[in-house]
Amino acid sequence: MAMNGYEGGLKMIEELTTNAEQTQDEVLREILSRNVGTGYLMGFLHGQTEKWLFKKNVLVVTYEDLKPFIDRIANRETSEILLAKPVTGFYLSSGTSGGQPKLMPVTAEYQKNGALYDTLSQSLTMRHFGDINQAGKRMELMFARPEIETPSGLKAASVLTSVYNESKFRTILPKLYTSPIETIFCPDPNQGLYCQLLFGLIQRDEVVRVGSLFASTVLRGIKFLENHWQELSYDIKTGRLSDWITDSGCRNAASLVMKPNPEQADLIENISNCKSWEGIVTKLWPKARYISCVCTGVMRQYIAELEFYCRGLPLVSTFYACSEALCGINLEPLCKPCDVSYTFLPNMAYFEFLPVENDHDESIEMKRNDEDTELVDLVNVKVGQCYELVVSTCAGLYRYKVGDVLMVSGFYNNAPQFQFVERKNVILNVDQEKTSETDLFKAVIEAKALLDPLGFILTEYTSYVDTSSAPGHYVLFWEIKGKEGKHCKELDPKIMVECCTRMEESLHYTYKIYRKRNIIAALETRVVKQGSFEALMDYYVSKGTSLSQYKKPNCIKSEEALKIIDSRVIGKYFSPKSPL
Ligand code: AMP
Repeated sequence: MAMNGYEGGLKMIEELTTNAEQTQDEVLREILSRNVGTGYLMGFLHGQTEKWLFKKNVLVVTYEDLKPFIDRIANRETSEILLAKPVTGFYLSSGTSGGQPKLMPVTAEYQKNGALYDTLSQSLTMRHFGDINQAGKRMELMFARPEIETPSGLKAASVLTSVYNESKFRTILPKLYTSPIETIFCPDPNQGLYCQLLFGLIQRDEVVRVGSLFASTVLRGIKFLENHWQELSYDIKTGRLSDWITDSGCRNAASLVMKPNPEQADLIENISNCKSWEGIVTKLWPKARYISCVCTGVMRQYIAELEFYCRGLPLVSTFYACSEALCGINLEPLCKPCDVSYTFLPNMAYFEFLPVENDHDESIEMKRNDEDTELVDLVNVKVGQCYELVVSTCAGLYRYKVGDVLMVSGFYNNAPQFQFVERKNVILNVDQEKTSETDLFKAVIEAKALLDPLGFILTEYTSYVDTSSAPGHYVLFWEIKGKEGKHCKELDPKIMVECCTRMEESLHYTYKIYRKRNIIAALETRVVKQGSFEALMDYYVSKGTSLSQYKKPNCIKSEEALKIIDSRVIGKYFSPKSPL
């Protein structure tokens, strides 16, 4: 369909959401007719392409099930063992929530889908904020990771790195973004971040949008700025880049635009040199219209802090997507971050939904589907019900569990809208009580309310189950910041003990019963030094995660990551009694 400004995009969204069922059927027909001869599908369908047979016979799988096939393709075997179209490369998922990064086969078609998805998503922001491409530039924090070459010669890169490598992106970059390409590809993310902030400040009068893919990266940028604004304004004043920026690409890019600008530097200094950084983003980038970053899912914990720094600007979560498939877009970019729903686009993949119990029972798992009623089709999901997302794509994923739990919040035309609930695999578990990411989030919210009136903010948290002594117990790591120069050492230990109690009281019924029966020991909170979570992020980035795609794990599974955070503990507190 030819696009005519943003109206073309909006029209297409109308058509797709109206014809959701038909579009989904077409997508499945295409996937099956094209791939039925692959080794993988032959094993289930024996050359047949009917939908009911697909639903009856094809197993619902996880990455682990497909990994041997994907690894064989990466190791030079023909991609026809899994998919019909040639594999052009692999996407590397971030791997922060689930452990190891995953390799996802990519085809040329998948990349085309990406361009369409972008256009549709942009038409929605244009409807609300006007044509920001004409109005000015985006200060977007972007970080590429080095590509990995697989034995087959095919490259594996994060989705974003692949986008940054596209010639189309490189062509529009200087016109639409403040960051030069060299700063995005800088091998040292800190040097890259410093330079991206520098370029963003130099062009501050042109910036109409500030953002990054995820809220955590925007916050990382603001905190970095809080620690480096004097140095940055000195560089702007003198027109010279700090010596610690040794990356030649960054230095070359800077040498092309930097010249002494004492007026701009003075303005930046005056704005930054104040006691409270509330609303700093609006002051430094006065023409910014909104902050673009995903604020849902694990990112919701950053909303309060981002709202503080970005006071006056809406936080806009535009998309819900993963390395496996592009899924939904936010039709109401101006709604409150906590109300964001993503409307699924039925042409992006074939979507099915595994019902998940809303209480603490396990999701209704099944390996073999004897009846096609067990997995629900896109158009048949029920409002208020939670589901685990299952996708099939032309790029070799068939009935693949993404690991995300979503709740249906409504419908737009015939396409369902989902709120992101949680990652399925992020749970704390001592003895089958299964605490989910959302359970933990709610408990933390309740407890942190005790700190707010005392002038302290909980800026980050994570957790793990300590089973080194019996019975095991939950450990929460908290990074706390004092408002207006207060130090977290001034915090009364009794309050921290109360926070532990409040969390236990706010956890679910099963947890509380187990605590009473001493199946689980007292919850512990370990307060960590400032910057500990940045060190954790640095660790994951050093292991290959892209800073742009980084999602802090809400539960730490890696020994090494645990050592990093545990070595920064400055206080330990336990809940003194079992919850009521
Ligand atoms: P990756 O595999 O690195 O591309 O990360 C994809 C994952 O990021 C998804 O499976 C979700 O868990 C998470 N994610 C992506 N978009 C959103 C969103 N809008 N809200 C919440 N989580 C998201």
